[in-house]
Amino acid sequence: MKCDFHLHSVFSDGSDTPEKLAAACRAAKLEAVALTDHDTAAGVPRFLAACAENGLRGIAGIELSVDTTQGTLHVLGLGIDPECPELNAALTAVRKGRDDRNRQILARLNELGFVISEDEVRAVTGGEILGRVHFAQVLMRKGYFHSISDVFARCLKKGQPGYVDRYRLSQPEALKMIRAAGGVSVLAHPLLWTEDEVELEARVRQLMALGLQGLEIYYTGYRLEQMVFLLRLAKRLGLAVSAGSDYHGSGKPDVSLGRLTESDGLTILDLLRLR
Ligand code: AMP
Ligand code: FE
Ligand code: FE
Ligand code: ZN
Repeated sequence: MKCDFHLHSVFSDGSDTPEKLAAACRAAKLEAVALTDHDTAAGVPRFLAACAENGLRGIAGIELSVDTTQGTLHVLGLGIDPECPELNAALTAVRKGRDDRNRQILARLNELGFVISEDEVRAVTGGEILGRVHFAQVLMRKGYFHSISDVFARCLKKGQPGYVDRYRLSQPEALKMIRAAGGVSVLAHPLLWTEDEVELEARVRQLMALGLQGLEIYYTGYRLEQMVFLLRLAKRLGLAVSAGSDYHGSGKPDVSLGRLTESDGLTILDLLRLR
């Protein structure tokens, strides 16, 4: 089936409104799609309404950044209740952590000689999430860098002078929040965490003990042998198979909408039906 369970809108760091996104999903002939903005589900009601108008099966989702001793991982919550009070209390704390960090990033950038103001960064966001991508857009537009990835590589990524850490949920907290909101939890782009197969399996088993239910296997840029490895892992561990592009619109122009998912195991749609 043609689906995409990993999409970003202007509510986080994507460039499309929920309505434009749903229309693009229809144009790409997708059947089931999930909005998974970073740290907010505020775009979900508009996205679901737009999906209904476009004849698409819309799924409410979110992408949470999680702190681990082995670096940051991202977990998707699919089929969540965007109104869940427990989830929203945790998200408020995460967004406060972003606000604190954004102030520090701004001060750091000014120290580095970049003339950039909070208003300029605010102006490029469509929602309440202000992230590094928005800083990158302004720095690029002002001619300091030639591409978004160049800003990250030389300034905003970990280890570079404009990098500031922020508060993130722990693994138990993130999985608990997704469960509290009635969602299915999926490890996003697993190979970004580690490409070591033995290590990944050990980490995934730990996440399963905390409630992880699925792996994102059909992901933008994953090679056939990587997807086969992930499929076998999911099957062996009894995890559901997910598919997502991580579409961000014009912010990541090389990522296009839609993934094809084929599985003789459990799919995300099965899990959503079984809840
Ligand atoms: P933040 O949540 O504010 O720390 O920003 C993380 C987001 O920045 C990711 O979800 C990506 O959309 C984007 N990002 C991270 N690293 C890069 C990179 N090297 N090039 C382009 N975008 C990136
Ligand atoms: Fe992003
Ligand atoms: Fe991610
Ligand atoms: Zn994402």
